[in-house]
Amino acid sequence: MQSPETSDPDGSMPSAPIDRSVTDSLRISLAVLRRRADPRRLDRTVVLGDLRVGGVSILDGQVELSLEAEARGAEVVVTGALVARWEGECRRCLEPLGGRLDLRVNEVMAATGSRTSEDDASDVYPLDGDDADLEPVVRDALLLALPISPLCDELCAGPDPERFPATSGTGDVEAGPVGDPRWAVLDALRGDDGPDPG
Ligand SMILES: [Zn+2]
Repeated sequence: MQSPETSDPDGSMPSAPIDRSVTDSLRISLAVLRRRADPRRLDRTVVLGDLRVGGVSILDGQVELSLEAEARGAEVVVTGALVARWEGECRRCLEPLGGRLDLRVNEVMAATGSRTSEDDASDVYPLDGDDADLEPVVRDALLLALPISPLCDELCAGPDPERFPATSGTGDVEAGPVGDPRWAVLDALRGDDGPDPG
């Protein structure tokens, strides 16, 4: 829980949560980040294009950010929350539906090659140039959270083959070679070309 801005001993607390260091939507100057020990807050609503997986997408590309970026040594740690709405259609009945994503973010950004372990590197977002670009962090979190095959209801009776099983009422199918057409073909072949038993 963040304490309100009641005390500000050195008088350097910014008067507004968003200042000029936030440029190009989700970029934060690394120099600014590293100058202060305090995390940099990013509370705003942004519109990101192309947030879609199949027929499911972020409604209007609109995302509410409540993020903190904090320099820790050579790395930048991004934590906070994302809220967005998604829209799509039920995979069975194809009726339109939607929902809300309420996500937690906790990611590490580091300069390429600054980490030696390949396992670690796979979980780290690259820090390139003079800015920390939080957009990939936000995008990944949202795309991974989008429902790929949403259902309007678990019991939706739309046109889904799994809901209309074709096996009820039929007994066991005889599995032996007798009467099986594949074996019949083999028998016929043997009759013509098989090795002479004598
Ligand atoms: Zn449905």
